[in-house]
Amino acid sequence: MAATATERALLIDGEWVETGEWLDIRSPYSGDVVGRVAKGGANETRQALDAAERALAKPLPAHKRAEILVKVAGLIGKNHEEVARTISDEAGKPIKTARVEASRAMSTYTFAAVEARKLAGEMIPMESAQAGEGKLGFTIRKPIGIVAAISPFNFPCNLVAHKLAPALAAGCPVVLKPASQTPLSALLLARFEQEAGLPAGWLNLIVGPASEIGDVFVEDERVKLITFTGSGGVGWMLQERAPRKRVKLELGNSTPVIVAADANVETTAAKLAANAFAFAGQSCISVQRIYVERPSYDAFLQSFVPRVEALKVGDPADDDTDVGPVIDADARTRIAAWIAEAQAAGAKLLAGGEDGGLIKPTVLAEVADDQKVSCDEVFGPVVIVNAVDSIDEAIDRANGTRFGLQAGIFTASLDTALNSADRLEFGGVVVNEAPTFRSDQMPYGGIKASGNTKEGPAWAVREMTEERLVVIQR
Ligand code: NAP
Repeated sequence: MAATATERALLIDGEWVETGEWLDIRSPYSGDVVGRVAKGGANETRQALDAAERALAKPLPAHKRAEILVKVAGLIGKNHEEVARTISDEAGKPIKTARVEASRAMSTYTFAAVEARKLAGEMIPMESAQAGEGKLGFTIRKPIGIVAAISPFNFPCNLVAHKLAPALAAGCPVVLKPASQTPLSALLLARFEQEAGLPAGWLNLIVGPASEIGDVFVEDERVKLITFTGSGGVGWMLQERAPRKRVKLELGNSTPVIVAADANVETTAAKLAANAFAFAGQSCISVQRIYVERPSYDAFLQSFVPRVEALKVGDPADDDTDVGPVIDADARTRIAAWIAEAQAAGAKLLAGGEDGGLIKPTVLAEVADDQKVSCDEVFGPVVIVNAVDSIDEAIDRANGTRFGLQAGIFTASLDTALNSADRLEFGGVVVNEAPTFRSDQMPYGGIKASGNTKEGPAWAVREMTEERLVVIQR
């Protein structure tokens, strides 16, 4: 279905603002213009911060914040197909996957509403020390202040929701900079927040040159927290440049999964084939490295490869498409080069490869650990499968990465599962499910190069608030 081009203004201080300059948003599949967005810069970002500062001076009570969050969830539901089409058009995400993302964004707002209602501090047992006798102590949670949010292209709706909804739950005004390639879903959420009754200044949305907007976020002292989801290079640079702010980073991974010899091969192969290529592998926890214990290796490949080949590749707007394009030509060229490098170094191509404008779901076997498709983040529809001689070897190779976001293991043994959960150095370990699994109430975030925080409304709200101690002499 051809999308119609629409024009969208920026949101500053409750007003939709045109700047006289426009950015074309193009479908990664067809190249058609699917929308035009006003282009802002440092000036608009400062105006947005002025508005956010005024909003912060007039706090919204928690019950009102919760009501708005619930209304936004309802508006996403009411406009579900429009949200899904917008995600699909701008990101090239298969429509059935985009529908799941739209539903998840509803959950994210709903969970955040719960957090707004139960935001509270804790009692401190003052009399447990002699010095505390006769004193009452408790903490209250205060909003940290203005939140600057930067989001990536790959979940243009739900990863924006994971920033906007907890910030509102915490009582923090936001200035959001969505990815330049995919700002339309974020603009839809901004429209819903306005319709839900969010007062002026609480959400401001600027699209434009990343470094110009990022510089304002880093340099302006009114920004107390930067919440960033994206690549490590940008994320760690922001943290280095803003040592006095909270800089919360959700970054990449090179997701490993271990298939133990006692795992059910058919079930495992089915789950991994379905999950490794969702949104063409452009998820930070897309299955990338599969380590199979040698007794199951051949059987696993015999089950896995035909399932991968059966995935339908094509137009993201079609209901039966499983795998669409990667985000742009640069990504396609890079991924094709990494596949070719691995092959040149001896890896076997069992399925896929580049095909015209698309990278087909690709399976490489017997890949050396130093190949980019193994040790870097592919962020494309490519998995590697290697045989291992033991679970110990699998865990060592899974851990042999600078990343640490999420990992998985398939096994019939509780002992192997728990031992692996203990030893896999990742922010999350998923047992008997693809490690691409995420549900929006979970604490989700990485260690090592993968980041320094947990998202999921309950955890993000804690990051976006400060605990203040109150001591009362009775
Ligand atoms: P990216 O290139 O780092 O872009 C992410 C965001 O940062 C975009 O809004 C981008 O703006 C902005 N940006 C770029 N340079 C900047 C600068 N100098 N200052 C401030 N902002 C700047 O990442 P991406 O390609 O969109 O996303 C892919 C990466 O995100 C992968 O590594 C993936 O693993 C990671 N990711 C992590 C999670 C998680 O939860 N851990 C979730 C999803 C994705 P422009 O678009 O305008 O360039």
